Amino acid sequence: MKCIQCQGSLRRGVAPFHADRKGYHLVMDSIPAWVCSQCGEVYFEDKAVDSIQKALRSIDNESSRLAKSA
Ligand SMILES: [Zn+2]
Repeated sequence: MKCIQCQGSLRRGVAPFHADRKGYHLVMDSIPAWVCSQCGEVYFEDKAVDSIQKALRSIDNESSRLAKSA
């Protein structure tokens, strides 16, 4: 697999993930990812994206429950 931006080679590593959602911001420090050795572009694996989406969904649920009880 090569970088879409610069055709550089990708290395296994970790990268931070940021999500700006309604009512909260989520930052995960080290998500497993492929990182371009030339330009630093980050590619998350489907598996990691699934987990992040699950985490966001559960935070969405809990935060809307909190908002209702306020
Ligand atoms: Zn690149």
